[in-house]
Amino acid sequence: MDLSRRGFFKVLGAGGAALGAGVRTANATELPIPSLDSLGCLVDTTLCVGCRKCEQACNQRNSLPAPAESFEELTVLEKERRMDETSYTVVNKYYPENIGTLTWRERPTFVKFQCMHCNDPSCVSACIVGALTKEKNGAVIYDAKKCIGCRYCMIACPFQVPAYEYKKALAPQVRKCTFCFEYVEDGGLPACAQVCPREVMTFGKKKDLLKLAEWKMKNNPGKYVDHIYGEKEVGGTSWLYLASEPFETIGFPKLSHDAPPRLTEKIQHSLFQYFAAPIILYTFLGGVMMATGFMKNGKKKTEDIASERGDNHESS
Ligand code: SF4
Ligand code: SF4
Ligand code: SF4
Repeated sequence: MDLSRRGFFKVLGAGGAALGAGVRTANATELPIPSLDSLGCLVDTTLCVGCRKCEQACNQRNSLPAPAESFEELTVLEKERRMDETSYTVVNKYYPENIGTLTWRERPTFVKFQCMHCNDPSCVSACIVGALTKEKNGAVIYDAKKCIGCRYCMIACPFQVPAYEYKKALAPQVRKCTFCFEYVEDGGLPACAQVCPREVMTFGKKKDLLKLAEWKMKNNPGKYVDHIYGEKEVGGTSWLYLASEPFETIGFPKLSHDAPPRLTEKIQHSLFQYFAAPIILYTFLGGVMMATGFMKNGKKKTEDIASERGDNHESS
């Protein structure tokens, strides 16, 4: 999946350069970067026991289809999973690679994943019709009425979050965690945070969450690695994580501190601001659709190969 993504960006870069040769480079629009008063969630992975109650609560709140295996089935944790169009959040289990000096390394780490609700989201920047927006409260939300199904957001997301309803013949949509936007706007909690019996997630203002994360690290020497994931990655995210393991060993991509959307934005502005011929746009969108189809097939193939080999972990 990674290879196809990198390959796609190479093609995209070449295409962007070709477009740029014929037109002036447009100025990128500034996206609203929310203040530290915006909302977020701090996930303390050291507290999670992998009960999957958060997955179930999310499924119910969003009226998603029932999974093939019940939420009580914990053997699913043995295989690394990703979010998809029927699961906006998944919990994965990671066994320690080395028993080191940290006291918590004798147990597996459970990690709940969902959309990170980035401060400067690539998906928002990539969407050419404004179907994805970054809200003042920190949530990144999707408007199905505006979406044209190009799936560019899927390519752009550095966390590979947005999923597409490939199996739905009529009006398929992009699907991802909504941050329980309506509930949060009304002063409520995200369903996953509300239900968690271990209080793994703390919901609140980002500035308070960062203080809490620092307090936890200072007052529990040896328990956490010295890193708040999401504080700086891709320009910061509304969801923040603490862990006892280096993040790259528990399913998190190692990402730069710079927000990545500018390449995609430059291309869009070249296309629209300078009235590039529609044929260029359709060729471009066709390429994106082929690429996302290729990624989906690539993932299927990888899963098949992994299952034939009897691997425990899906390659990402
Ligand atoms: S409900 Fe809480 S403890 Fe259970 S899997 Fe989700 S985050 Fe972990
Ligand atoms: S994690 Fe991906 S889908 Fe979520 S806001 Fe960031 S770029 Fe968008
Ligand atoms: S915030 Fe809401 S939509 Fe997102 S994972 Fe939690 S319950 Fe699901």
